[in-house]
Amino acid sequence: MENFWGIGKEAALLHENSVVWDSHGCMPQSMEHLPKVISKLSQYRDAGVNIAHINLGDSYYPLDSLVRVAAYLRHWIKAHDNEYQLAASVEDIYEAKKSGKLAIAFDIEGGQALQDQISLLELFYDLGVRWMLLSYNKTNLLAGGCHDEDPGLTDFGRLFVDEMARIGMITCCSHTGYRTAMDIFEYAKNPVIFSHSNPRALADHPRNVPDELMKACAGTGGVQCINGINLFLGGEIPTTDMMVRHIDYVCELIGAEHVGIGLDYVFSSGVDPDFSSEEYSDYWPPEYYRGSALCDDTLFSPAQLPQLTEVLMKQGYSDKNIRGIMGGNMMRVAKQVWK
Ligand SMILES: [Zn+2]
Repeated sequence: MENFWGIGKEAALLHENSVVWDSHGCMPQSMEHLPKVISKLSQYRDAGVNIAHINLGDSYYPLDSLVRVAAYLRHWIKAHDNEYQLAASVEDIYEAKKSGKLAIAFDIEGGQALQDQISLLELFYDLGVRWMLLSYNKTNLLAGGCHDEDPGLTDFGRLFVDEMARIGMITCCSHTGYRTAMDIFEYAKNPVIFSHSNPRALADHPRNVPDELMKACAGTGGVQCINGINLFLGGEIPTTDMMVRHIDYVCELIGAEHVGIGLDYVFSSGVDPDFSSEEYSDYWPPEYYRGSALCDDTLFSPAQLPQLTEVLMKQGYSDKNIRGIMGGNMMRVAKQVWK
């Protein structure tokens, strides 16, 4: 095997032989820009990623936008089936890895667009959505957001959690308020994840999660995936060492079997609303996001993942734990939840 990643041979072999799973990435969420950017999905393939979740839309995107984006992504993936494949099942991920393809699953950040029509969950599952948040920063009729008053998981939110379990969709608590997240961990019968959230102890931001929530997530058998945005890592440049610092902390607190990767890499930089958007200042309150940007300098990129494997090795992580963190732990959750 030729090592394209500029890392040691042993680390390259380990990376190559692991299922590498990125739980969250953002392509443009509008049809105006998506076709121009979608070929950048190759960045995951080049970095040895085997499965990536792509966001269909944050909470403020309406239903028709989520469906249009899903339709376009599905169509594009099928038209490029020598390199990409939809990840409808765990077997699809193994299959894609064996044939050198990138498997792609979708996610939706918040249940706002579904309003009170619970049957839409199954439609989105059939379209390829494999995890979903109930709320995105703001509170809605399902759940409380992390930048809003949080009434906890509502009765209707419980019905959503039940339906997600029935159809095989993973419930995620990133962007969710403290009380709601605690309610979900207590209520859910399936493992629940933080698909892209960091420990608040290392970066004091309301999007990051306190120790008690991390422990409760692990208590469900879930996984906390580390976010690569500098704001949530707590520094200017999102280096591999900073990622490792967060991984160390979560491993220490809840065990390496509960840690994963969810880079939140933004391919839509400059075309979608971002942290500085005044129109969406309810979602990104300026007091928490002022001065932060989403660009190459502030995002840990998928291309840095092979180096992450190497640094974890140098830090003395066992091969087993590295495989788990890079994707095996999310694989375990998918085997338990996906249908
Ligand atoms: Zn997010």
